[in-house]
Amino acid sequence: MVLGIESSCDETGAGLVREGRLLGHAVASSMDEHARFGGVVPEIAARAHVHAAAPVVRAALADAGLAMRDIGAVAVTTGPGLSGALQVGVSAAKGLAYALGVPLYGVHHLAGHVAVDTLEHGPLPNPCVVLIVSGGHTSLLLVRDLARDPIAHLGDTLDDAAGECFDKVARVFGLPYPGGPAVDRAARAGDPRAVAFPRPLTGPRDAAYAFSFSGLKTAAARWAEQHRASGRELPVADGAAALQEAVADVLTRKAVAACAEYGVGTLVVVGGVAANSRVRALAEERCAAAGIALRVPPLSLCTDNGAMVAAVGDLLVRAGAEPAPLDVSIDPSAPLHRAALHPRARGR
Ligand code: ATP
Ligand code: MG
Ligand code: FE
Repeated sequence: MVLGIESSCDETGAGLVREGRLLGHAVASSMDEHARFGGVVPEIAARAHVHAAAPVVRAALADAGLAMRDIGAVAVTTGPGLSGALQVGVSAAKGLAYALGVPLYGVHHLAGHVAVDTLEHGPLPNPCVVLIVSGGHTSLLLVRDLARDPIAHLGDTLDDAAGECFDKVARVFGLPYPGGPAVDRAARAGDPRAVAFPRPLTGPRDAAYAFSFSGLKTAAARWAEQHRASGRELPVADGAAALQEAVADVLTRKAVAACAEYGVGTLVVVGGVAANSRVRALAEERCAAAGIALRVPPLSLCTDNGAMVAAVGDLLVRAGAEPAPLDVSIDPSAPLHRAALHPRARGR
């Protein structure tokens, strides 16, 4: 059984996975402590991880009805993420691996977002197109064997991530923190056609799989300003619905086009923004129309958690991957080439 530990941002997560099955997990979040600052404060997040790490591991074991001695390997997010936050999780993981005498695996946070889907829907088909949409990333990937093969980037955002766009516009609209879920809730009462927000980088001359959300963010802010300047009350629900529609439209259009171009039959949508109801619905609609199988992890596993890290660790163990050394470092801006970060250096 693999214990996975996640601490890259404001969630402290521990998950337990054996042979592709989720046995138990627990998450603690410092989200409320960041609310009054309007964004994650790294120092506060790190301190909260120090507080939560051991209790969360204990809670995950209790959830699974298992004990420390059942842990056969420890996997931990070594990057990307906030440096101080990552250090807490990695230190805890090293201590546990050393004390238990079990191998340690350093995993890429985004590979975790992808792998978590296997806990619900089984092994990923090879190949599949993955749309990863989170607070810090928006990318289209071509994934083969997650544990063995390099991951190919088809495109990334040139500026803001989709989640960042939701979070920032929510602030301008006066919606509560965190913005993504608040936009989703507000949009239920709105008309997505009320405002014609731009669909960035969808023109014939634009890079097919690159994204850009900063212009959309500015357009939404300007729309709100104009309303307020003219003394009218801001129709927040309409703004939220139109914003969500624009983001979902761009994301799903490009993801489905990538599947068609690469002749891939499965699209996997992962990351915090995969929890968005309109992104899920539009992806379903467009995949069905294009004859593409769609996989989206369950809502509770879309945002950061420990199960996603354990899922990668479990894949690595089963693939016979080299563990990481106990002196492994964090990598706050790790590029996503492979799921396993920092395998043991040759000759060690
Ligand atoms: P990364 O994974 O890129 O390092 P992160 O770990 O902070 O970033 P996640 O936890 O994957 O990001 O996702 C958080 C993001 O998802 C936030 O931007 C949040 O607003 C967004 N989000 C969560 N739920 C929803 C929702 N229902 N609709 C839209 N956005 C959402
Ligand atoms: Mg978070
Ligand atoms: Fe994340």
